[in-house]
Amino acid sequence: MSHARAHEPAGAAPVALVTGASRGIGRRLAADLAAAGYDVVCAARSTAARPGALPGTLEETAALVEKAGRRAWPVPLDVRDEAAVADLVARLYAEWGRCDLLVNNAAVAPEKPALADTPKRWKLAVDVNLNGPFYAIWHLAPRMAEAGGGRIVNISSGAAKLPQFGRPGYTVTKAALESLTVCLGHELRDRKVAVNCLRLELPVWTEGFAATLGDPDAFAFEDPVIMSDAVLWMARQPLGWTGQIVTIGELRARGAVRPETRADKA
Ligand code: NAP
Repeated sequence: MSHARAHEPAGAAPVALVTGASRGIGRRLAADLAAAGYDVVCAARSTAARPGALPGTLEETAALVEKAGRRAWPVPLDVRDEAAVADLVARLYAEWGRCDLLVNNAAVAPEKPALADTPKRWKLAVDVNLNGPFYAIWHLAPRMAEAGGGRIVNISSGAAKLPQFGRPGYTVTKAALESLTVCLGHELRDRKVAVNCLRLELPVWTEGFAATLGDPDAFAFEDPVIMSDAVLWMARQPLGWTGQIVTIGELRARGAVRPETRADKA
């Protein structure tokens, strides 16, 4: 854990926990939340000591958070491991004393049609894309409620509504995550924990997504910064704004997300 602003009283800044923060949208989000004043807990599996197959580590993301002048806490975490999620939440409240925003961003998108793939890969999608967010909410929401409120943003995909995407494990689990959003938004409304969902319905350039595409150059990718615009806007809504599923297009029409971008694939 780092203390980039040691002169600040502990607990002064809002705290965000971002899963899937080692690369792609999660990494950009962590950096932009820091620029907006959040201390950031960066969670994923890839570390300098145990890198993944794709570029990106928690330490690199933590360095971006610190560069923006905020505290970073890179935490190796497999979101499928409920005990590890519980431990992270306990340590977070013991060390930093608060969590204002949870972004359930980590996901996998097994590429084959469901019946051409193994049940093991099906279970992987359910565990990462649905059970992982549920564990994080289950352990964090009561703490947020006790502290007077908090916000949760689940990241979904346009594929939730698109069986033709050809990745049923992804479509089904993202659709379930949207349904979970609505159910828990309802369940937690009176406890002042807002649960909302950002459905990304257009291609955003990330190492992970591009690696799963046959011809990435065929896509007009947008920049991950649009997800930061959207999440920061959602984090500013009143706690009574809950159980909502919003798309980038809808937020753009409201002026909450900047006009169309082009990804810098460097
Ligand atoms: P990505 O580049 O593949 O990154 C996925 C992140 O999830 C990585 O940081 C990965 O880190 C983490 N992750 C995977 N399995 C994990 C596990 N078991 N435990 C903890 N972390 C895990 O994906 P992305 O394109 O940035 O996507 C981010 C979110 O946006 C996802 O929810 C995705 O469904 C959604 N989305 C993206 C697009 C797009 O165009 N890019 C479109 C629609 C929706 P480690 O490997 O280090 O664990």
